[in-house]
Amino acid sequence: MRRMNKKFVTALALTAAMSVSMVSGAFAAAGHANVAAVGTASSNSFYGVSYQSSYSLGQTHSQIAVLKNNLRAWRAYGSNESLFTGVAPITSTNGTFDQATKDNLIVFQRNKGLTADGIYGAASRNAMHGAIGSSPRGYVRIKNTTHYTNYNDTATGLSNDGTYKLDHSFVTASTKTTLDQIAASFYGTYAKKLEINDASLIDGADTPEHSSHQDGKSVDIRNYGMTAAQEKKLLEIAVANPNVSQVLFYTKHGLTSSKIVVRSDHADHFHLSTVN
Ligand SMILES: [Zn+2]
Repeated sequence: MRRMNKKFVTALALTAAMSVSMVSGAFAAAGHANVAAVGTASSNSFYGVSYQSSYSLGQTHSQIAVLKNNLRAWRAYGSNESLFTGVAPITSTNGTFDQATKDNLIVFQRNKGLTADGIYGAASRNAMHGAIGSSPRGYVRIKNTTHYTNYNDTATGLSNDGTYKLDHSFVTASTKTTLDQIAASFYGTYAKKLEINDASLIDGADTPEHSSHQDGKSVDIRNYGMTAAQEKKLLEIAVANPNVSQVLFYTKHGLTSSKIVVRSDHADHFHLSTVN
């Protein structure tokens, strides 16, 4: 019942946000903030919206107008214009995916190392979140570093989230710092990158599959391919960090820290919570 109430409140808040955005000209799409939103039947039903799973040449949709705005903003950013030699700018602001939209999107996709097919889907959305996403809560996006990979951006991560196609990659600035510290320490011992999975959505919206991750202070770290010794080491590093408040995992591996909470449903990831 609690869940139903929460969903209802989210939908109401969203409707209010959307009517405001129409007046101000800003965009606020569930789980996407200022970035063009993608969705599935499941996520659309949850948020009461009608996003497509992808957008391509010839289609018309309100989110295509957002995409065109995003692409124009990215092209104008820094020295990005130099990447667009011979590519006509997007001049229209309507919701039709025209040739200029496709050509500009291809430049963006190529720059981000994505399949440059001119079709905007979840992978392009994640990259756009990383490039120009503006979190209304001040969250920052987890990007790949030399010490960890954002699993949400991998082919496997993207296909595993086929049901909802959301981008769970946002955390508070201090959680990001904590993550950087933990990953650097772990890498220093094992020269192995951590795989960071579900954090929060850009706007901290409730999610259908992961409602405990809304505050930007929760991160899942996959233990796929880790030895027991590596799992134990990561637990040791995490609980020694003063900003870590709790780690949910299926075993303590003999450690005594009260920060570790044994949870049998956390056999495939560490759920890390931070104070700030
Ligand atoms: Zn979790």
